[in-house]
Amino acid sequence: MNILILGSGGRESAFAWKLAQSPKCDKLFIAPGNAGTGQYGTNVNIKVTDFAGIKDFVLGNGIDMVLVGPEEPLVKGVHDYFLADEQLKSIPVIGPESEGAQLEGSKDFSKQFMERHNIPAAASRTFTRETLQEGFEYLPTIGLPIVLKADGLAAGKGVLICLTLEEAKAELADMLTNAKFGAASEKVVIEQFLQGIELSVFVLTDGSNYKILPSAKDYKRIGEGDTGLNTGGMGSVSPVPFADAEFISKVEQRVIIPTIEGLKAENISYKGFIFIGLMNCGGDPYMIEYNCRMGDPETESVLPRIESDLVDLLLGVAEGNLNEKELVISNKIATTVVCVAGGYPGEYLKDKAITGIENVRDSHVFHAGTTAVGDEVHATGGRVLAITSLQDNLFDALQQATADASRIYYDGVYFRKDIGFDLL
Ligand code: ATP
Repeated sequence: MNILILGSGGRESAFAWKLAQSPKCDKLFIAPGNAGTGQYGTNVNIKVTDFAGIKDFVLGNGIDMVLVGPEEPLVKGVHDYFLADEQLKSIPVIGPESEGAQLEGSKDFSKQFMERHNIPAAASRTFTRETLQEGFEYLPTIGLPIVLKADGLAAGKGVLICLTLEEAKAELADMLTNAKFGAASEKVVIEQFLQGIELSVFVLTDGSNYKILPSAKDYKRIGEGDTGLNTGGMGSVSPVPFADAEFISKVEQRVIIPTIEGLKAENISYKGFIFIGLMNCGGDPYMIEYNCRMGDPETESVLPRIESDLVDLLLGVAEGNLNEKELVISNKIATTVVCVAGGYPGEYLKDKAITGIENVRDSHVFHAGTTAVGDEVHATGGRVLAITSLQDNLFDALQQATADASRIYYDGVYFRKDIGFDLL
């Protein structure tokens, strides 16, 4: 079958790498892709939100399945667009319709969903410009620090952790009355701070059956020792050593089953990945967030551990018989180290020639912000390359991924040398 992947990051590179291995995959296309995805398929110069362009390409190239990488096209309704079109509606899209994508697209929606289905999460309430005063009154009732979340998508920047009440008041007012995050902060969720260790659990579902994919931990801060500004993600490790069978079973019973059942009960058809962002608070899972797609860079450490045919699993999603499909997960440990552009996550250096990829010894190199310029590969994005090493033990995986990242060079190259070392 012919498959189209939407997206251009390290996550989509990992998907392309994995899908291309399947005997069921004939032609693979990636829109728009990057300098690395061309190794696994054909890049197509279409933006992920250009639905009309996607339609023309799908119909013109006999595409049998579309896998959506990032959240934006899902929240904007790419799956709904397919279902509403006579020529497209029989072509499966992996990723929820816009209603299900609200689990990520609106934090207010997702918090209310968790509450309706008794899914453990931090106490919270949502406020608007009109109810700002009530928001001020709610702030002192939930303890410090206070978490403020812009309701809508804000590229990972819409969450503030305020250490004092004064700071929380000022930020709440700024978000609601000065549109600090634009339309995304027309509503703000005020949330209790959860103390614990964060991790992510990924689920693939056909809307009724589900498979629990490997867990992962990501490293969001730019600096070593988890310091400095937040980024899209500087690295990841899978599995998470403290997410043992007992913990995952709690996640399944308390979060995954109520989520799938809740979606069904609310008639929200959901075919795709669910990213469950959790806090492990003393051995008990509490929800932080849902995302309606896989994580980046978690995908780069999760997919190399899946031994089964991913196309076959996605067919199970499309056909509603995921329960009949096999999911075999490797016992090996995957570590991903992300090489970013100098200056990232602030203003960063662009268009720098990359060398040394051929010197990487025992890791996958998943391209993210790269483009081909003649015979050269240039760094163009904030996150440039994701280096994943799969080894028998955590120490070797960490060491190998870090050593291989150091073999890459471009002007300004930076990566964290401590990814995963806290887990040893
Ligand atoms: P991303 O784009 O990174 O997924 P987001 O903008 O969707 O982020 P959240 O994931 O909800 O927002 O929050 C961002 C980060 O803030 C979390 O990864 C977590 O570290 C922290 N955080 C969010 N909610 C809480 C909470 N209730 N208690 C403690 N920390 C929290």
